[in-house]
Amino acid sequence: MTDTYTCAACSGTFTKGWSDEEQAAAAKELFGTIPVTEMVTVCDDCFKEMEERRRVAEGIPLEAFRDGRDPFATRPIPNDE
Ligand SMILES: [Zn+2]
Repeated sequence: MTDTYTCAACSGTFTKGWSDEEQAAAAKELFGTIPVTEMVTVCDDCFKEMEERRRVAEGIPLEAFRDGRDPFATRPIPNDE
């Protein structure tokens, strides 16, 4: 297993801080069930930039996005009180 990757956005070479399994799991959590073959690897900086573009494109308030709430959830939030 190689421990470096090339960023698909800026073409920089970076050291992997995760295993392929961890990456696949994280990607699934973020993006759902996109086939691994359709995914590209980008560096942290490019990822943040992409996330910011997605946030703006979808009109998600910065505060909600940073709080780590699921900004794409359309289901009602359960009311436990
Ligand atoms: Zn990059």
